[in-house]
Amino acid sequence: MQPFNQPPPQLGNQYDDDRVLRSMLARRFGGRIPVAVEEVLREMGELAGGELYQMQLADRLNEPRLVQWDAWGNRIDEIELTPLWRRAECLAAEFGLVATGYEAEHGALARTVQFALVHLFHPSTDVYSCPLAMTDGAARTLLDSGNCDLAERAVPQLISRDPGRFWTSGQWMTESTGGSDVGASETIARRQGDGWALWGRKWFTSAATSQMALTLARPEGNAPGGRGLALFYVETRDEAGRLDRIQVLRLKDKLGTRKVPTAELILDGTPAIPVAGTTDGIRQIVPMLTMTRTWNSVCAASFMRRGIALARDFGRRRVAFGRPLSRQPLHVQTLAALQAEYEAAFHLCFELIHLLGRVEHGERDDDTRALLRLMTALTKLTTGKQAVTVSTEAIECFGGAGYVEDTGLPVIVRDSQVLPIWEGTTNVLSLELLKACGDGGPLAVLRRRITACARACRDDRLVAAVSVAGTAADRAMAWYRAAAESGRPALEAHARGFALTLGRAAALALMCEHAQWSLDHEQDSHARAAALAFAASRISQLDGIEPDDAAMLAD
Ligand SMILES: Cc1cc2nc3c(=O)[nH]c(=O)nc-3n(C[C@H](O)[C@H](O)[C@H](O)COP(=O)(O)OP(=O)(O)OC[C@H]3O[C@@H](n4cnc5c(N)ncnc54)[C@H](O)[C@@H]3O)c2cc1C
Repeated sequence: MQPFNQPPPQLGNQYDDDRVLRSMLARRFGGRIPVAVEEVLREMGELAGGELYQMQLADRLNEPRLVQWDAWGNRIDEIELTPLWRRAECLAAEFGLVATGYEAEHGALARTVQFALVHLFHPSTDVYSCPLAMTDGAARTLLDSGNCDLAERAVPQLISRDPGRFWTSGQWMTESTGGSDVGASETIARRQGDGWALWGRKWFTSAATSQMALTLARPEGNAPGGRGLALFYVETRDEAGRLDRIQVLRLKDKLGTRKVPTAELILDGTPAIPVAGTTDGIRQIVPMLTMTRTWNSVCAASFMRRGIALARDFGRRRVAFGRPLSRQPLHVQTLAALQAEYEAAFHLCFELIHLLGRVEHGERDDDTRALLRLMTALTKLTTGKQAVTVSTEAIECFGGAGYVEDTGLPVIVRDSQVLPIWEGTTNVLSLELLKACGDGGPLAVLRRRITACARACRDDRLVAAVSVAGTAADRAMAWYRAAAESGRPALEAHARGFALTLGRAAALALMCEHAQWSLDHEQDSHARAAALAFAASRISQLDGIEPDDAAMLAD
């Protein structure tokens, strides 16, 4: 007897299938997406749903390998990457996954086009977005640093479209003394002849095969804490192509992101160049963090979309209780709620990206910059959490198959789990958001943006939905003012609820604004349905645990 075999879920062209992406682009480009932009996105969409997705399934059991010694006893510390990652590196250069953001062609929309590509590329390349994010961050940091020599030396490679010339960059910040509390770093910088050299141990370095890195170290004699750290530029290999006084101790054995070669490194007199002076390195690396957090947010949204795309296709194929899952009312509700979360995350991300593009193209007034700082933390922390929830629910949509490794589904959950951790945990970013709120001025700027979204809405149901966003934001701001008067512990204790409320409120307002545009210009009510569904979810997350109870329970 031939048993029944369930057909696996399929992916189509990931650009053509993504109404949300196409609609956002149409709006940003004033109604019509330029032909050249569509062409390149469609090509990437085809790869992402086709060749790369198939390679990803075939590559499932491959992992990067550290070869520490050669046959003749020489220490070499070479890391061999997986076939998909090698292909991804080439494609990343050719498609300009980093370069597009720096090219003049699309003006202030360069970042929007770049991240549309990232959105398609990321979920089919086993987190190759990780080295690309740091590469983008390094290019931005060097350009902003005012160090023309270093910028001229490295940036042309970092933004090259030639795979033979393209460089990636690492970001070596975390040490075992602290990742969030990076001011506790122990790496020492000493003068050596005309230059500098570094000694220390870097505890998490994900782009371990990169040609360069930006790293923090404390010049001997500097004060303890963050201010005493300087930002250094390191080229990882000497002229003979060997690691330059760097040892790779081991690769981390991680829950997910297993294709990412995250290494522990020893810097043993590694030659380094100060990027901008010999103090204040944490301040100088902020552009890196802005970029990596933006990448993280887009990757969160695109993981959500991948889980949903597969679950949606499976729902049409899988029959239970006499009909396809896609016609079971409760399954339909489940998928709809996931889609609404995805669209919320997507619009939050592409608002941040739009802002970034405007700032990079000259809109540097205080309000826009304050909003960018606030939105960077807000978007990263909100979408990181959403990605974990959505990917977990998405694999449940497959029943037992979602839990079986060779379906290629569980990896989406494992890889999503890193998104709230690296580039600043949810708590750490919530505290950073408090700093970004300052005297409340930047919050008022965000509130004005939400008001602008509300003004754009004319459809009755959208007017009602956007008012949910306004009310939640007002409650959060009232809480902030009251807590600020009660002192720091009160502010910190509920900072996460405050941050998530603001993030979800902003996302809802942006969804409503876009939904009105889509009704008017595309005669499409999908975006409205998503906004209404999201408005019915828990937007306000302000209700925290009383501090005394929290202390009792956490102890
Ligand atoms: C797969 C992976 C790859 C990575 N790659 C890199 C890399 O390439 N380069 C790099 O520099 N780093 C990298 N990291 C490190 C990562 O950025 C850090 O792990 C992260 O910033 C958290 O730091 P930590 O591990 O020291 O945790 P800790 O800072 O010790 O945090 C532990 C917990 O305490 C919470 N916490 C900390 N401070 C506070 C506070 N004041 N109030 C409330 N809660 C708090 C945190 O939210 C967290 O839940 C990587 C991490 C992973 C998992």
